[in-house]
Amino acid sequence: MITDIERRCSSVLILVNVLLEQVAELSQTDCTDGIVTTHQRLLLEKAGLTGPPGAGKSTFIEAFGKFLTDSGHKVAVLAVDPSSSTTGGSLLGDKTRMPELSRDMNAYIRPSPTSGTLGGVNRRTNEAIVLCEGAGYDVILVETVGVGQSEFVVADMVDMFVLLVPPAGGDELQALKKGIVEVADLVVVNKADGDLLPAARRIQAEYTSALKFVRPRSVVWKPRVIRVSSLTKEGIPKAWDRMTGFRNKTWNSGELDMKRRRQHRVWMWNHIQDSMIKLFRQHPSVQRLIDRMEDRVMRGEITPGAAADALLREFQKSPKTSNPE
Ligand code: GDP
Repeated sequence: MITDIERRCSSVLILVNVLLEQVAELSQTDCTDGIVTTHQRLLLEKAGLTGPPGAGKSTFIEAFGKFLTDSGHKVAVLAVDPSSSTTGGSLLGDKTRMPELSRDMNAYIRPSPTSGTLGGVNRRTNEAIVLCEGAGYDVILVETVGVGQSEFVVADMVDMFVLLVPPAGGDELQALKKGIVEVADLVVVNKADGDLLPAARRIQAEYTSALKFVRPRSVVWKPRVIRVSSLTKEGIPKAWDRMTGFRNKTWNSGELDMKRRRQHRVWMWNHIQDSMIKLFRQHPSVQRLIDRMEDRVMRGEITPGAAADALLREFQKSPKTSNPE
């Protein structure tokens, strides 16, 4: 005879099994697909924002972010600033630079991680993006300084790339233009107010013609140049209009979905690369040889290729490898 306790135990066991199956299923799904539905993905706006120091990035994000939260959006601001750990410069995403937005219940600001390698910092930012998507933030801005290679890494994390420039020329801007304009989907000339307005118009014309020489990356979107003032807020709604225009066009054509899928593949390889390098460096016999090989390469006794081959042979010799974590 089955007792009441036995009956209850068997129902609990069935329930546990169902839960375990669901957990197993979830762990096999891609993280982003598991958390975010297609409808949410369609409405999601993930943009990288870069620009030289002093261009007005934090002032713009504060004005733009407030405009969005006032319109009912949830905004996350994440930062990638690999230089801050070495230069001690001002932190991107620092809450004191965006006082109003940081007090806003519908905004989340995450300062840039200050320690770790470029790869590590970026990996954590990429994971933070996925978490923000899951937490219901529908606008995610990733801020970076347009001086290193970080903006190119960020371009692999976001849907569109926004370049913010001040109304001033100079060598620094020339150099900036060359590389970043190639990944920019929207150029925003900031500080288009007061005495700076004529200069802002000139810079807008310069960028518009610079963009004509850039190889198009999209069939449906032509990069635009607009003027805004983060102080008077003029042009802020237009910036949002352009961003949603980009999203709608690229989503409807299937380009955006394909881009996100490709980015997942890039990040899979980024993770593998990071872990492999860690494994390699922690391998006992490789560790013993690294200093000597580096020294010999620097003294010119051996070519970099031969040294790398010797280290890789050492790594392959013993199957015993330590855990990267
Ligand atoms: P960031 O280094 O790129 O984050 O630049 P900030 O946001 O700190 O701005 C640098 C300076 O430019 C500050 O003194 C701001 O007040 C000023 N600034 C930012 N946006 C505007 C703008 O739209 N118009 C004017 N006139 N000044 C601005």
